[in-house]
Amino acid sequence: MNQPKITVIGSINMDLVTETDIMPVQGETVRGTNFRTVPGGKGANQAVAAARLGAEVTMVGRVGDDQFGDVLMDHLRKENIQVDHVDHVRDTPTGLANIILSEQDNRIIIIAGANGKVTKDYIEQIKAAILKSDYVLLQFEIPKETIVYSMELCHKHGIPVIVNPAPAMELDQATWEQATYITPNETERQQLFGNQPNEKLIITKGKQGVSFVEAGKEQEVTGHSVDVVDTTGAGDTFNGALAVALAEGQALTKAVTFANAAAALSVGKIGAQGGMPTRDQVEQFLR
Ligand code: ATP
Repeated sequence: MNQPKITVIGSINMDLVTETDIMPVQGETVRGTNFRTVPGGKGANQAVAAARLGAEVTMVGRVGDDQFGDVLMDHLRKENIQVDHVDHVRDTPTGLANIILSEQDNRIIIIAGANGKVTKDYIEQIKAAILKSDYVLLQFEIPKETIVYSMELCHKHGIPVIVNPAPAMELDQATWEQATYITPNETERQQLFGNQPNEKLIITKGKQGVSFVEAGKEQEVTGHSVDVVDTTGAGDTFNGALAVALAEGQALTKAVTFANAAAALSVGKIGAQGGMPTRDQVEQFLR
């Protein structure tokens, strides 16, 4: 089978994870216990998921002119992701999440940085690359007008798009219509679409699995019972895998079954990208 071509338009972040026994209060300095940097961002995560499953993946996004930008570009290359359309924005930090973890509490500050500069004009300049895709993947960590423009562009040229509406953000009804599939989790679904049945929605329900409507009928793909180490990135694995399966021409139920298995495997290891499985691992799991 030819490798499907997937383009991910989205965020690239470095997560700065500080662990501490004591959460500092206002004005206080405490000694922490550990620190690590972890590549993240929903866009980059979904790109990694799709590449590990065998697709030819192009990342469209931006990093800053700092060291994190270089590290993240190298990281994407090592995952066999094409980065010709990831550039460095001057005088701008790379997108990051500053995460403080303690037993009792987590505190997170997100800086959009270069992700906030993935503009409509930037997409316009590189649209030829996007239009070569079999499938496009979008999430909501880049500016709204870029998302709307990308959906219009793909729709106009008949390129199918999966829109993962995370974090939740309202779009016009006419814009939602341009998505091929929309993949909210249950909270995003309630917030954006209420309970109305909708043939575009593929709803992820954590360990319960996935539901969607096909030919007017509600379908369920049951979640797998697995040992959970870290569910971060389960949704991103699901989206990357779904794009691969659909781009290969798999029927909807089969594609959702594949993605549900890939996502279940991803929760067995720490970190969003840490547990993302290879093709062989998913196929063996489904056997
Ligand atoms: P996250 O933000 O943690 O990445 P999400 O909220 O976007 O996840 P979920 O619906 O929690 O999305 O999970 C996505 C998919 O991952 C589920 O539909 C399911 O296929 C798989 N999954 C998640 N959690 C589990 C689990 N505990 N056991 C098995 N599969 C899981």
